[in-house]
Amino acid sequence: QTTTVSTQTTETAVATPQEDPRLRLTPFYAEIVEKLHRFFRLRTFRTNQLEAITSTMEGKDVFVLMPTGGGKSLCYQLPAICQGGSSSGVTIIVSPLLALMEDQVENLMQRGIEALQWTSEAKDSPSSDVNKRMYASNRPNLLYVTPEKMANSGQAKSLLSYLHRNGQLARFVIDEAHCISSWGHDFRNAYLALGQLRQTYPGVPIMALTATATPRAADDIIKNLHIERCIRLKQSFNRTNLHYSVVPKKKMNLIAKWIQENHAGESGIIYTLSKKGAETGAEQLRNEGIAAEHYHAGMTDDDRKVVYRNWKSNRTQVMVATIAFGMGIDKPDVRFVIHHTIPKSLDGYYQETGRAGRDGNPSDCVLHYAYKDANTLYKMIREPKDQAPLPPAVVARQEEALRAVILYCNDISQCRRVHILRFFGETFEQKTCKKMCDNCANPMPLEDQDMTAQARSFVSFIQAVTNARVDITQDMALAAMRGANTKPLLEKGLTGYSDFGACSASPKELIELLLARLLCDQILDEQNIQNGSGFSNAYLRVSVMPLHHSNELTAII
Ligand code: ADP
Ligand code: MG
Ligand code: ZN
Repeated sequence: QTTTVSTQTTETAVATPQEDPRLRLTPFYAEIVEKLHRFFRLRTFRTNQLEAITSTMEGKDVFVLMPTGGGKSLCYQLPAICQGGSSSGVTIIVSPLLALMEDQVENLMQRGIEALQWTSEAKDSPSSDVNKRMYASNRPNLLYVTPEKMANSGQAKSLLSYLHRNGQLARFVIDEAHCISSWGHDFRNAYLALGQLRQTYPGVPIMALTATATPRAADDIIKNLHIERCIRLKQSFNRTNLHYSVVPKKKMNLIAKWIQENHAGESGIIYTLSKKGAETGAEQLRNEGIAAEHYHAGMTDDDRKVVYRNWKSNRTQVMVATIAFGMGIDKPDVRFVIHHTIPKSLDGYYQETGRAGRDGNPSDCVLHYAYKDANTLYKMIREPKDQAPLPPAVVARQEEALRAVILYCNDISQCRRVHILRFFGETFEQKTCKKMCDNCANPMPLEDQDMTAQARSFVSFIQAVTNARVDITQDMALAAMRGANTKPLLEKGLTGYSDFGACSASPKELIELLLARLLCDQILDEQNIQNGSGFSNAYLRVSVMPLHHSNELTAII
C-alpha cells in the first residue's frame, strides 16, 4: 500500500487518449501534451488545467477558479502556443500588475516562447516596438496588456481590430479577474471596460481566471464579461499544508525569537498595516540578527525589484511588507506568513497567507490580534486619509468584511478553515482539518456559558453611558463592569447609574470575550472622537441598530 501526501492541488498524470475517451475526440490533444513536455518541461497536469486548456481550444469561454499557486498561468500559456482548435493567432492577456507581467514574460522567454508586454507606460507611437512586431506576420503568440492600456489606448484598439479582422485573435485572457468585481478586494476601474470585449470582438473566446472569487464575486465576473455560458472550473480552496493560528499581538523582538525557534533560516513574510510599520519592523528584525528588508508602495520600482530579488533568492530571509507586496509573488518555499496587524477581510487573508507553502510543505500562517488594530481599520474605512469618503454601500461592505475577521480572531473553538472557506461558499468539515489549525490542534475544554444576564447588564450600562454622553473606552468599561475605577465615571456625569460591578462574578477573560462578541454582533459600536490634542480615541456606544433591544438579547459564549 502506498501513502499519498495530498498537497494543495492534485497532479494527474497526463492521460493518454486511449485512457480518456473524451480526450480521444480532441484532435489537438497530442499537440497539448507535446508542448507541455517540450516547452514547460512538465509531465503532469494539475486539477482542471487540462480541462481549461481543452475548453478554450474548443472555442468555449472558460471561468477558472483556482487557489493561488494552483497553476493558472499554464491554462492560457499552453494553448497560446498551440495551433489546434481555435488557437491560431494571438492570445491577449490582461493582467493588472507590471511586475507580474514582467515576471511572466521573462519566464516565457527563458522557455523559448516569445511574448510581449504592452503597458500604459509605453506611449502610443506608430514606431513603438510592440506595435511593429504585432503587425508583422511572425508576431509573438502572447501579448500582455494592462487593463488601462486596453481601455485608453487608440493604438491598442486598432491593433485588436486588425487582428480580429484577420482572424488572428485567438482569445482574451483576464487574469486576476476578481478586479472586475466590486465584491473583489482589488476592484479596478479600468477592468470594467473589459465588459465590452464580447460585443466589440464577437466570436473571440474569453478565459477569466482568479483565486479570490467568493460566489458573489464569481457571478459578478461572469455577468460583467458576458460569458454566462462559460465552462466553470472550480476546485476546493482548502490548502491542507497551511497551519492557521491566531495569537495575541506580540512585539517584533518576540516575533524574531519565534522565527529563530521555529523557522531559523527559512523564508517568510510579515505583513504590517503601514509603510512606516514595515520599515521599523524590518529594522527591529535586523537588530535581532534576522536578515530582513521592507517593501511598500512608497518605494521606487527599482528599489522594490531589488528587495524582491534579494528575498526571492534567499539573500534576505524575511520580507516585512504592506499588502502592496502581493500579486505575482512566485516563491515556492515560503514557510511562514505573519500578520502583525489583522487583515481587512478573510478573503484578503486567504490571499495573503496563500503565498506560504506553494511547494506543498507545511507552513505557518500566524495572525497577531489586538482589538486596537481593528479599531484603527474601522477608522480608516469610515474616515479614509487623503481621500474622499467612500460611498456608504462600500463602507458597509468593508465593515462587514472586517467584522468577519474580528469574529475569526475571537473564536477560540471553531476550526479556522470553517471560517475561511465559508467565504468561498465551501462547507468545510472540521475533522478534515487534521489539526492544522490552533483550534483543532488544542481543543479547549469548552463549555457553553449562558452570559445573557451579563450581556444585558453590559448593554444597559453602555446605554446609560450613551445617554449621559460620557465617553468611555473599552478598558474603562471592562473595569467598571467588574466594579473597578468607577469614580471618574461619576465625575464625568454618569449619575443615576448604580449597577457597576454587575459582571464582577465572571472571570475577566470571559467579560472581554463578551465585549468582543457584542461589538462583532453590532450590538455595541465604537465611535472615534477627537480630543483637544488632535488624537482621536474610540468610545463605546450602543449601536443604533434597532434590531437589538437589550431585552431580546441572549448571549451564549
Ligand atoms: P497561480 O497563477 O495560479 O497562482 P502559477 O501559474 O503562478 O499559479 O503557478 C504556480 C507554480 O506552479 C509555478 O511555479 C508553476 O511552474 C507551477 N506549476 C503550474 N502547473 C504545474 C504542473 N502541471 N506541474 C507542476 N508544476 C506546475
Ligand atoms: Mg497567477
Ligand atoms: Zn481546524
